[in-house]
Amino acid sequence: MSDRLNGLSDRQIGQLLFDFCWPELYLNGPELIICTHAIDRLRRSTGGAVTNEEAEDNLKQQPVCPKCGNELFLHYGIDEPDFWLCDRVACRHKRSVR
Ligand SMILES: [Zn+2]
Repeated sequence: MSDRLNGLSDRQIGQLLFDFCWPELYLNGPELIICTHAIDRLRRSTGGAVTNEEAEDNLKQQPVCPKCGNELFLHYGIDEPDFWLCDRVACRHKRSVR
């Protein structure tokens, strides 16, 4: 599944969001508003498929939590710089990207 998604353009991903995710969301909830916004943005995007190199880079860059050894996931900061966050709920170790 993930491999197939890598091959799609941003606009096609937006279409999938609209077809599969959007109908699952509550009317006027923040999830729906955010999802709608993302779909609108993806539809105007000219971004193409994710290349194999990009996909591999993402895997290579994924660091491991120094506290518990779990994977860290990149979060894009809204009112703060981007940061890595440990996937394990009990840990939630946070590390700034730079
Ligand atoms: Zn951790």
